[in-house]
Amino acid sequence: MDGKEEFLKEFGDFYGYRNAPKSIDEIRSTEFKRLEDTVYLDHAGATLYSELQMEAIFKDLTTTVYGNPHSQSDSSSATSDIVREARRQVLDYCNASQKDYKCIFTSGATAALKLIGENFPWSCKSTFMYTMENHNSVLGLREYALNQGAAAFAVDINEAVDQDGASRSSLTSFKVLQHPVQIRNEAKILEGELTGDAYNLFAFPSECNFSGMRFSLDLVNNVKQNAEKILEGSPYSKGHWMVLIDAAKGFATQPPDLSLYPADFVVISFYKLFGYPTGLGALIIRNGK
Ligand SMILES: *Cc1c(COP(=O)(O)O)cnc(C)c1O
Repeated sequence: MDGKEEFLKEFGDFYGYRNAPKSIDEIRSTEFKRLEDTVYLDHAGATLYSELQMEAIFKDLTTTVYGNPHSQSDSSSATSDIVREARRQVLDYCNASQKDYKCIFTSGATAALKLIGENFPWSCKSTFMYTMENHNSVLGLREYALNQGAAAFAVDINEAVDQDGASRSSLTSFKVLQHPVQIRNEAKILEGELTGDAYNLFAFPSECNFSGMRFSLDLVNNVKQNAEKILEGSPYSKGHWMVLIDAAKGFATQPPDLSLYPADFVVISFYKLFGYPTGLGALIIRNGK
């Protein structure tokens, strides 16, 4: 067995190659001809676009008239239709019903996170909790939270591994890492007791782009339903928990199934999936509370 076969045997399923309709060699010789004998390393953020994809885009843009979607004409409808269809495909890809979720296009995952930071109903009773392994752009949410007097802290999640090798995060595996908890505007917090009407946010990556570690999506339901238990009655556990999955990396190998793991926010980065166009991402957001 050569090295490539060995690699695919061990990691093929994990990275979604085993059941791909075409073999890697076939994909490479039909869609990435320009690579020739090049060894292209780094698949964390500089995905190559495929040649078939570029041909299809070129054909579409040179044969269809796309007008301003804000007016009424065939060319406007063409634009509205294709945008609506793109939104539907993004939601379908993570099994999110159009009734429960909306897809908002952004300039990337970072811009989607910024939208959350700016609009989340932070208060001095809120908590922002995040896993140690997180992209810098997620850590940036801390400032929005702290500026409104909210508390922010990192947690470590020890993953229990099942016999079949699948990792699962159990309820008992949360460890609050950052002491003391960061809180700004402490004066504000003394004014009111920490009661149950605050909105809290928990953020984790479905796959870490640095270590490659994948977190169990069970975290979504665990935190939404059992935060008080997980945080062992800490005053910061009270209130309504919302969960954010940073899927900028994980979307490429395993999109989260939102019908099973109903996260409130998912951020995505499309250049990591398609290579082209760059500067495009999305915020998937759950309707209602
Ligand atoms: C790349 C990446 C981001 C940032 O995505 P942009 O679209 O470049 O803003 C955030 N989180 C993770 C896990 C990433 O891999």
